[in-house]
Amino acid sequence: MECLLCNGPVFRPPTWTGLFSDRGKSFICVKCEAEFEPDGRRPPLEDWNGTPYEGVLDDANSLYAYNDAMKSYLRQYKFLKDAALAAVFSETLRKAAILKGRTAVPVPMHQDRLAERTFPQVEELLVQADIPFVRLLEKTTTRNLGRLGRKERMESEPLFSLSEGAEVRRADYVLVDDLYTTGTTLHHAAHILKKYGARSVAALTLIRA
Ligand SMILES: [Zn+2]
Repeated sequence: MECLLCNGPVFRPPTWTGLFSDRGKSFICVKCEAEFEPDGRRPPLEDWNGTPYEGVLDDANSLYAYNDAMKSYLRQYKFLKDAALAAVFSETLRKAAILKGRTAVPVPMHQDRLAERTFPQVEELLVQADIPFVRLLEKTTTRNLGRLGRKERMESEPLFSLSEGAEVRRADYVLVDDLYTTGTTLHHAAHILKKYGARSVAALTLIRA
């Protein structure tokens, strides 16, 4: 098969699981894979200490750095709407330890944004990786708070509401999103889940910007 990023050949030794399913199958070549820089660190949640959002996230993990290769991947995935690219990080996502024992909740886009982007990009990462998830949240604004100053972000109106008919259990959830920049989106989302009874909320992002 061809690499989804450079169209070069993908040479991989066959594996037993690969014979029966897509598990363990690589969608990009070794050269392209080497361009991505694994991160695996916990984003700085302590930036939120002393705010009303302190402690709403119990844990967090981010898988890759936001380097040139990742920027170009994200551009192609999000803006050129190349849905096939959702599979590139399936294997890494599936192995993320923070998912163990937790229910995944994708961070949604606003309906208007979804119409522009044509498909729910974070959800698609989970679908391709075969990670079960529940939809609990609805984005209530199209504003991008990442560009605002710290004080404005802290004082902004809520970014999410609970989806109609959604039921938050006394369970451990893990929010899944593409980017961790300032953490505003994830803290707002976690706050809603806690407010409606979640026992704990963690966050997993593909990239730490
Ligand atoms: Zn390649």
